[in-house]
Amino acid sequence: MKEFSSERAMSFTESVIRDMTRVCLKHQGINLAQGFPDFPAPAEIKEAAIRAIRADANQYAITWGTPALRQAIAEKFVRYNGVAMDPEKEITVCCGSTECMIASLMAIVNPGEEVIVFEPFYENYGPDTILCGARPRFITLHEPGWHFDEQELTRTFNNNTKAIVINTPNNPTGKVFSREELQFIANLCLKWGVVAVTDEIYEHILYDGTRHISIASLPGMRHQTITINSISKTYSLTGWRVGWAIAAKRLTASIRKVHDFLTVGAAHPLQEAAAAALRMEPSYYQTLAEEYGERRDFLLKVLEDVGFRVYRPGGAYYIMTDVGHFDFKDDVDCAFYLVEKIGVATVPGSCFYSRPERGMTKVRFAFPKKMETLQQAAERLKKFKPHLPICF
Ligand code: GLN
Repeated sequence: MKEFSSERAMSFTESVIRDMTRVCLKHQGINLAQGFPDFPAPAEIKEAAIRAIRADANQYAITWGTPALRQAIAEKFVRYNGVAMDPEKEITVCCGSTECMIASLMAIVNPGEEVIVFEPFYENYGPDTILCGARPRFITLHEPGWHFDEQELTRTFNNNTKAIVINTPNNPTGKVFSREELQFIANLCLKWGVVAVTDEIYEHILYDGTRHISIASLPGMRHQTITINSISKTYSLTGWRVGWAIAAKRLTASIRKVHDFLTVGAAHPLQEAAAAALRMEPSYYQTLAEEYGERRDFLLKVLEDVGFRVYRPGGAYYIMTDVGHFDFKDDVDCAFYLVEKIGVATVPGSCFYSRPERGMTKVRFAFPKKMETLQQAAERLKKFKPHLPICF
């Protein structure tokens, strides 16, 4: 019989992260798998959305985003990231950073061209490269510091390289790329004419005085960077699906066309509210980072006390752990034990790697949760007896 599914669709699996949320619901676990907050979004942003709906901002917005939101994005990008971009011609609002990423890659990559991806990587980038027909080239981030090998990266750039995907602060490792590392990458991009596609959605979730640098702010990179961001993580609004891609005029023209035919546009009233979100006072971001810092420190200690080997994140809201010294067959075995027997959902590390065996000893915990949720998870994790041989 004729195969109805495309080879493309069959060449990747469903998201393991989203699947672990469903497994968690089935077992009534505490969801430290998929990264979304269980605490309320800021009241003033919710009010702004309600006002926008009442004012009848209920029809299509301009395809590439409402003027108010694009203006707010441009102002914030100069203020926080140090790069001036034209809201009329250089910003595209999409349905979350997820759409920004696929729309951007489809806008720039021809089938067979190479896209460099650091691994471990956020799961979506794998299917994203397949969907745009790219040939992915993976560069390992080596633990414990999650550094890349400069020579390996240098050797990987070539005439057929079209883009490099950067994610800083990084999911799942918590690595925050330093200025020196970004400069090294930028030099290669400039030498080979490669576009940096940078996912910076965790830019305000930083610890221990770490600073966020946007590669677009480095000399010469303004013209060949696509900076992707969203309201999801910074304002705890993951379900609103409002994100944006910032790029120089010609790149933006292509991104806008792909975006238009993919989705037409993001929800209009939520864009109006997002514009209000981007104008929050500086103290909002400070409190956000401080509260995440408390959650991080709490969960790090819980996990260490139970025997996990932890990688201390410098940013974002995940803790990568190593479980290779426990008696599990692999990461999936460990994650299923955790959700089914302990009642805490996590993400098996292999889904962040192109070669799953590299993540076989790793499990990721997400901590965008109320302290009381993390305390409940801590109570449950106390029952975890990893030193006992586990047959499962
Ligand atoms: N970024 C989140 C994570 O890694 C999930 C995002 C999503 O599922 N769309 O868990």
